[in-house]
Amino acid sequence: MAEKICVAVRVRPSISEESPSGTFWKIEDNRISLHKLHGTPISGLSYAFDHVFDESCSNSKVYELLTKDVIHAAVDGFNGTAFAYGQTSSGKTFTMNGSLNDPGIIHRAVNDVFQKIQMISDREFLIRVSYMEIYNEEINDLFAVENQKLPIHESLERGIFVAGLREEIVNNAEQVIKLLESGEVNRHFGETNMNARSSRSHTIFRMVIESKGIDTGSGDYSSSDAIRVSVLNLVDLAGSERIAKTGAGGVRLKEGKYINKSLMVLGNVINKLSNGAKQRAHIPYRDSKLTRILQTALGGNAKTSIICTVAPEEVHVEETKGTLQFASRAKRITNCAQVNEILTDAALLKRQQLEIEDLRRKLQGSRSEVLEQEILKLRNDMLKYELEREKLEMELEEERRSHKEREQRIRDQQLKIENLSSLVSDGDRSSSQDSMKESPKDECNDFKTPCFKETSNNAFVAKRSNYSELPDFSPLPDSFSNVADEDTWFKMNKGYIADLDSLQTTPARKVQSFPPQDITPDCSNDNYKLELQNLKTQLELVIKEKDELQRKHEEVQINRRLVGEISELKQELDLSNNSLESSEQRYGNLEREFQKLKDERDSLLQTVSESSKNITFLTDQKENILKDLNSEVQRRKDLEAEIKQFSVAFASRQRSLASIHGEFKSKIEKLRAENLVRY
Ligand code: ADP
Ligand code: MG
Repeated sequence: MAEKICVAVRVRPSISEESPSGTFWKIEDNRISLHKLHGTPISGLSYAFDHVFDESCSNSKVYELLTKDVIHAAVDGFNGTAFAYGQTSSGKTFTMNGSLNDPGIIHRAVNDVFQKIQMISDREFLIRVSYMEIYNEEINDLFAVENQKLPIHESLERGIFVAGLREEIVNNAEQVIKLLESGEVNRHFGETNMNARSSRSHTIFRMVIESKGIDTGSGDYSSSDAIRVSVLNLVDLAGSERIAKTGAGGVRLKEGKYINKSLMVLGNVINKLSNGAKQRAHIPYRDSKLTRILQTALGGNAKTSIICTVAPEEVHVEETKGTLQFASRAKRITNCAQVNEILTDAALLKRQQLEIEDLRRKLQGSRSEVLEQEILKLRNDMLKYELEREKLEMELEEERRSHKEREQRIRDQQLKIENLSSLVSDGDRSSSQDSMKESPKDECNDFKTPCFKETSNNAFVAKRSNYSELPDFSPLPDSFSNVADEDTWFKMNKGYIADLDSLQTTPARKVQSFPPQDITPDCSNDNYKLELQNLKTQLELVIKEKDELQRKHEEVQINRRLVGEISELKQELDLSNNSLESSEQRYGNLEREFQKLKDERDSLLQTVSESSKNITFLTDQKENILKDLNSEVQRRKDLEAEIKQFSVAFASRQRSLASIHGEFKSKIEKLRAENLVRY
């Protein structure tokens, strides 16, 4: 059933503090329009969509209103795509990846898919995921960094697919979230300016959902029902601004500095698709990797929703208008989605059916978690094996192609040789007849050989080096036709250009080949012989060249083997170099540490010697002090002895004084008594 692509616009919160000076975007229901500052709408700049989300709208609401139906339909077997389009920093990644508090569409979709399939008990599901990035028109695998520059292939069974892209079979949402996180790490790998990269690259997260009905009553897994296969793409596009903006003021760089080719082609594709069925004749999906991958989503069997993110600031008004115009055109596109049911081996469920049944039988009676784990492991192993085989097939195909090219080149050379040989044999015949015939005119007519004549404008020209004197003439066979320019000659020879001066045996002469009717009577036998010799030399050269080519062909085979061996050796060498480098690093570190320790030891020794000097000094001082102390002690002892002697002397003196005093006192008393008697 034909249905329109669902288109919504989401305005992110304003980042700048500045209030608008002239215009602002007004949102009413599902309409967004540019207004003058005082409220009047600007005519021609009002757009209506399926939804218009204002800056307060959460990812949860966007998911509920815009994407949920697409996701649920994918579980039911419809292809689905949701992508975010808009200028850099308008909120695409915020919408698709979200934040911790408000997970984005991808997380919600993954959770929703697993929740939904758990509620469907009568179907068995097989889900696999992949994650890729398109950067500068190259597809890189975000689940496996080694898978770079992957090609897009198309087959009847698989439709359009990225060859060699890793796919992981998953059982629950947590596994997918973990894988996505590892993918993000790969995206950051080796990239210094992540913002610059993300504004120029597209990421496509893809889920392939396969399901088949099971007979729940008997638990019969071999039900032969058709298998539903749907592909769900969740895409975070590169920044849609066509011109680089720099600085806070958004100074515009010159147009055309960097235009993202995929986005340009996406715009063209949307334009053509929106022009209705009449002009749908040629849609240039093949002009870019992105549109080729999203071909079904854009113009075919898919349910698609586009969220166009815009920035509200006045400085971005032109970009916002551009985004809204893109959104308006996208809204006119009609798709025709239908459930994809297939019976062939294109479904992985079908391809793996026998092995899984076998495993189920073997593990009968095991716990269901064990069984689930084992099945998941087996499925992933088988898928890896398939992908590996696909990769090898691609390489083989490549090898076949180059082999064919080489063979073609050899065939071309052989053709050339045959042409020349036939020419030479003609020449031989002509020279033998020449000996019998007299008339130069007859000779020319009979044998149709080249003769000497002024050049005509439409003759072959082979490359001639600068010092060649006669640039207008060259000894070339007629059998190639006489109308060709240098370029055609180059192509016919597959890149081989005869340098006339390398034909040393033949000096540059005025030689020109012409069809028989052009033959003039002034052909001479001598000249003809020379011409013949010339051709013979050329034939020899070509034969040599052929041998050389064959030799080279063998060499190429040997080289290829050698290259393989060399690359293995290189890998080994790289490994040893790496380990050598790391040991060198370790050695350097150890040496540095050793030097540090040596320095420390030296400074310690220095300190020790200074300390020991100090100690000697102090010991000397102590000894001196001790000596001083001893002499002091001695002096004190002497003094004490003297004091003792002195006190003994003093005591005896005191005693004698006391006795003198006593005597004196008694004498005074006696005298006093005598005086009293007298008076
Ligand atoms: P884009 O992927 O388009 O370049 P981002 O999603 O990285 O832009 O958004 C740029 C900045 O704006 C981020 O810091 C993001 O968190 C913020 N942002 C974008 N949209 C919203 C929104 N609706 N609500 C809150 N913040 C948002
Ligand atoms: Mg982004």
